[in-house]
Amino acid sequence: MADSRTELNQLGEFGLIERIRAKNKTRRAETLKSIGDDAAVLHPQGREVVTSTDMLVEGIHFDLSYTPLQHLGYKAVAVNVSDIAAMNAFPVQITVSIAVSNRFSLEAIDMLYDGIYAACDAYNIDLVGGDTTASTSGLIISVTVIGLTEKDKISFRSGAKPGDAICVTGDLGAAFLGLQVLLREKVTYKANPDHQPDLTEYEYLIEKQLKPEGRTDFIHELAEFGVVPSAMIDISDGLASELLHICKESGVGAAIYEKQIPIHDTTMLVSEEFNISATTCALNGGEDYELLFTLPVEEFEKIKHLPHITPIGIIREKSEGVVMVTSTNEAITLRAQGWNHFNG
Ligand code: ADP
Ligand code: MG
Repeated sequence: MADSRTELNQLGEFGLIERIRAKNKTRRAETLKSIGDDAAVLHPQGREVVTSTDMLVEGIHFDLSYTPLQHLGYKAVAVNVSDIAAMNAFPVQITVSIAVSNRFSLEAIDMLYDGIYAACDAYNIDLVGGDTTASTSGLIISVTVIGLTEKDKISFRSGAKPGDAICVTGDLGAAFLGLQVLLREKVTYKANPDHQPDLTEYEYLIEKQLKPEGRTDFIHELAEFGVVPSAMIDISDGLASELLHICKESGVGAAIYEKQIPIHDTTMLVSEEFNISATTCALNGGEDYELLFTLPVEEFEKIKHLPHITPIGIIREKSEGVVMVTSTNEAITLRAQGWNHFNG
């Protein structure tokens, strides 16, 4: 109910933890002991364990004026799942730590955990612990994810070899434009709170921004076809920056082709409306949480029929640099940020 508000200090820390625990369930055999003791007990069943943490700070990573709390909870889990997928591993458990101020009611924290538990269902993972503390101002959420894989299946950033194909899952640039739409609506709303925006035509972009998915579906497909990418990374900061990470760690160069970069029709249309090139959104926008990976051409043959993967270029010798060949056949050296060839 929108108008009922229960203060968090009515429950206290332990009451809040009990509230969180009451909705918790264990889905996986790899979880022996979940919330309720000094530590969780995990059973990796002979596999390699991978782990990663991401912290989200109100005002820095999210803005609650246009981010529903359920979506925030879901996204906090999805971006961590994405890091595990990028290692070619499967997420199994998470811990979630929160710092909350008295600005937040119990109902608000319930909504946050509704999103967290929805993500646990979607990715078949268990919430096995965390920490709860007070904050003087905003909301801070830190998620740690634990994933499993096998030694010979791990994809590091460092394994790309000259001649490997460069591919991406899904399409790029949508999440960045979704954010631009939300920011524009926020300004309009401030000027006129009665304004009722019709955001139907932007739905795809806004959903990509507010409710991204970690691509564990693709990790299952890789396993199904027996393919291990030579290098992989998730696209959190934009294609250019992620490709540069792979090239640096692998000691190689690369060429990608502008024409090949997968861009959704809506991204194309709305990028024109915002007067930004869709290529710039894909290269520098970020938050798409798609996967960028490399693999030998004969391995690519085994998965090229999958509809949501696109080859965008080729790994080269380091001396050849990291370039994008534009639609007009110019080779442009890629930079992580501030690449403004298309902005002018
Ligand atoms: P400790 O004093 O050992 O830190 P806590 O009282 O903080 O213990 O936590 C008790 C249990 O509740 C532990 O299993 C902990 O992992 C879990 N827990 C605490 N906060 C959260 C949270 N925000 N989400 C999920 N589990 C939590
Ligand atoms: Mg604690």
